[in-house]
Amino acid sequence: MWSLLRRDAMTVWQQVELKNRLVKYREIFQNKRLPRYKLARLFHVPFNEKMKKDELMEIHEHYQPKFKEWLEEKQQYSIEDIEKEVFSKYKEEEIEKNNYLKLKVKILNDVLSACEFCENRCKANRAEGKIGNCGVDGKAYVSSAFIHMGEEAPIIPSGTIFFYGCTMECSFCQNFDISHLFSFERFKGRGSTALDLAQTYYTLSKQQARNINFVGGDPTPNLHVILESFLDAQVNLPMLWNSNMYLSETSMKLISDIFDIWLPDMKYSNNDCAGKYSKAPKYWDALQRNMKMIEERGSGEYVIRHLVMPNHTNCCSIPILNWINENLETPLVNIMAQYHPDYKILRGAFPELNRRLKTSEMYEVRKHADDLGVYWKSVS
Ligand code: SF4
Repeated sequence: MWSLLRRDAMTVWQQVELKNRLVKYREIFQNKRLPRYKLARLFHVPFNEKMKKDELMEIHEHYQPKFKEWLEEKQQYSIEDIEKEVFSKYKEEEIEKNNYLKLKVKILNDVLSACEFCENRCKANRAEGKIGNCGVDGKAYVSSAFIHMGEEAPIIPSGTIFFYGCTMECSFCQNFDISHLFSFERFKGRGSTALDLAQTYYTLSKQQARNINFVGGDPTPNLHVILESFLDAQVNLPMLWNSNMYLSETSMKLISDIFDIWLPDMKYSNNDCAGKYSKAPKYWDALQRNMKMIEERGSGEYVIRHLVMPNHTNCCSIPILNWINENLETPLVNIMAQYHPDYKILRGAFPELNRRLKTSEMYEVRKHADDLGVYWKSVS
């Protein structure tokens, strides 16, 4: 039925260049390759519950290249064959207690008591119920979960989970009702457990989801619950991280090799614009680092989103395209034209952003992408 609504979700795969850029992602939903989280929970890593965060992180970094190598070798095997091999070496209870995914969950839960999941590093003690700059406490609050048909063609139908709260505050936010202006007291304490999330993945998979898409607001404040849910999840679907990518280095170390595909939002190409319009200090430094980490440690498969903004082609759009072209191996870029004034802009903030885009601005950015040879048409 969905293929009638969006025929391009089928036809887009006839484009060889696009297909070659999302090989691993496609093979996962075709059941020819395992999602990364399933391998992470079968990869033995020795640690114990008493160890402190720094020691656990050291162990994580020691095993990260080994996991990468193992994953590359095994991802196209069947889960039965991998289990057979792993359980011939270790007891089942041993793997359940000491695996790479569990190590990540343990570190994230330790970080939660002085939270630095995102680059704000506001150190809120979310483990004890304190609310961080992102607007939520230590639980994961789902606003909605459904099959999204409005995403880019290779992504739909997308089993999308929207979380409350956000790590940045864009003055023009188009999702401000779940990012910032929600009444937390109304649902405080009634967060979703890891098991609730795992059940949601199953429900979405039965509705023909091609992936599980974590978004918000921003999904970053919920990392600990999301990764814990992967310990229970059963779906053979790619896990998709759809985010502003304003994550701390620690968070990126923990998730860069777990998600199968990425929808990073690359908004600004300098710290000044990000600080001024989105209250995100050191945004550009963090964004460059995090994008490179996906290349070096993770799948390197993504659909980058860039929202072209009025009066920001020279300071942001053009340099972002240059950076993508120079630094990323096989990017697909959705150059988005749908900017409209919203949220604080409608209440008088930053008059320079209080209009829609001019055709000439879009033309300039898309022409620059063509001149560079950046691949964008089939996802924009
Ligand atoms: S996710 Fe970011 S803003 Fe939220 S509590 Fe953690 S460090 Fe603070």
